[in-house]
Amino acid sequence: MFQQVQTAPPDSILGLNEAFRNDPNPEKINLSVGVYKDEKGVTPVLKCVKEAEKRLLESESTKSYLPIDGRAGYNESVRELMFGTEHEVLAANRAVTVQTPGGTGALRVAGDFLADSFKGRALWHSQPTWPNHPNIFTAAGIPLKTYPYFDKATNGLDFTGMMEALRQAPKGDIILLHGCCHNPTGIDPTPEQWKEIGDLVQEKELLPLLDFAYQGFGDGLKEDAAGLREIARPGQEMLICSSFSKNFGLYNERVGALTAVAADEASAAAVLSQLKKVIRSNYSNPPTHGAAVVETVLADTGLNAMWEEELAHMRDRINGIRKLFVDKISASGIDQDFSFIQKQKGMFSFSGLNQMQVDQLRNEMSIYIVGSGRINVAGISEANVDRLCEGIKKVLS
Ligand code: PLP
Repeated sequence: MFQQVQTAPPDSILGLNEAFRNDPNPEKINLSVGVYKDEKGVTPVLKCVKEAEKRLLESESTKSYLPIDGRAGYNESVRELMFGTEHEVLAANRAVTVQTPGGTGALRVAGDFLADSFKGRALWHSQPTWPNHPNIFTAAGIPLKTYPYFDKATNGLDFTGMMEALRQAPKGDIILLHGCCHNPTGIDPTPEQWKEIGDLVQEKELLPLLDFAYQGFGDGLKEDAAGLREIARPGQEMLICSSFSKNFGLYNERVGALTAVAADEASAAAVLSQLKKVIRSNYSNPPTHGAAVVETVLADTGLNAMWEEELAHMRDRINGIRKLFVDKISASGIDQDFSFIQKQKGMFSFSGLNQMQVDQLRNEMSIYIVGSGRINVAGISEANVDRLCEGIKKVLS
């Protein structure tokens, strides 16, 4: 039977990482996969994580299964991190959270739930979006539609195009929004635009699904949750997929969560029962370690302060690199304007480089960028920025 199986194409982003690993050039530069790197090009374990792990090693008394929805304390912390402690959604007990294996796990549980409970409803995603979004929701059996997002002319948000498309969405369709630090463009709506999105969602009775994978990487923990809180108006329903891969550097521990905000407590409980049903037939219950680390850090004032400081350092480094890159580009005599890179948020930027230029950078200089022209800004450092600018100058001339 297996002789008939066709080889699947490699994942568009993780496949590039593999090619990078196999490249013998000692000066190679990897700006493809979405992983934070420090000044030395290392993806560090945060100090607060190490400290929490020490405490957990001491106190852990069992390896028995977690409940289907994971650790209750973790789930509560996740909600508070998104909404703050005073929010109406929490006071009304109308949000339920399940711990998931990473943000990807949260998206897939959301997809399976939606496909089961709301058959035929389409999911609208930004064009472009994180390439795994279409994979996940197609696998779950959800029809996909797109809305414009990136305006090539301004290297900014095509807000008019986005709103025009979303106005066509029928009642009950699902609107996938990036909570902050849009991947791949780095372009987020302004607070006023979030307000208009909130109005539209409410008026048209659409279901917002927020992918919230980068809280704290844009402007700050609270600032990055502003869009989400704008959408979460009294009575508004929504789904939120959280990830702690990036802001805790817990990539390989697979720590995420899916939060469903219902109109009232009773329907939230019913949704939770459906989410558990989806999880039980999928991976049964989540792994504990990463979530225990996050829960420990968030519950301890000292560790929490340490985390916020480390997160601020990652954020500041990314923003510093954006400035360095833009300065170096203009100093290197490239006349194309790259200043928009400094306005974008989070780890990614759309460089505006096309597929041919991206291929040339890889083939001639061992500089790895995703085909869409997306660069992981965190992969740039003092040590490689000059070589990167030299490469960009070469492919633009
Ligand atoms: N959503 C977006 C927009 C992402 O960029 C990523 C990771 O790159 C994820 C979700 C998934 O994160 P995780 O590694 O926690 O599954």
